[in-house]
Amino acid sequence: MGDCIFCSIVAGKIPGKKIYEDDELLAFQDVNPQAPVHFLVIPKTHIPTIMEAEAGLLGKLLFKARELAVLEGCGERGCRFVINCKEDGGQTVDHLHVHVLGGRSLAWPPG
Ligand code: 5GP
Ligand code: ZN
Repeated sequence: MGDCIFCSIVAGKIPGKKIYEDDELLAFQDVNPQAPVHFLVIPKTHIPTIMEAEAGLLGKLLFKARELAVLEGCGERGCRFVINCKEDGGQTVDHLHVHVLGGRSLAWPPG
């Protein structure tokens, strides 16, 4: 997709600190981390929100997010997996992504 920032990271047109990549998925550090661990897992294809994603892809995304969370040190104390969706969900980049946040205690509920 033309001006999608995450598609540009997938294409290597803008830099991203990648932590994982395969044929379908990419994971990279969030540019504005909200916790000691904060990375994003995305499909390489442009899917705007979770509302357009099919079951198989969602399973792979979450499974990979969990696997990487453990590798990043969150297996013992846990972490948070977040998918913001559209306006009310606070989504700012319209390319489906799972946030993984950890390395500190996180407050609940969100504001
Ligand atoms: P959202 O608010 O859509 O759920 O989250 C978008 C996330 O993407 C934010 O946490 C933001 O910091 C991150 N982000 C926005 N632009 C870039 C970028 O160019 N590179 C990286 N690595 N992360 C970005
Ligand atoms: Zn995109």
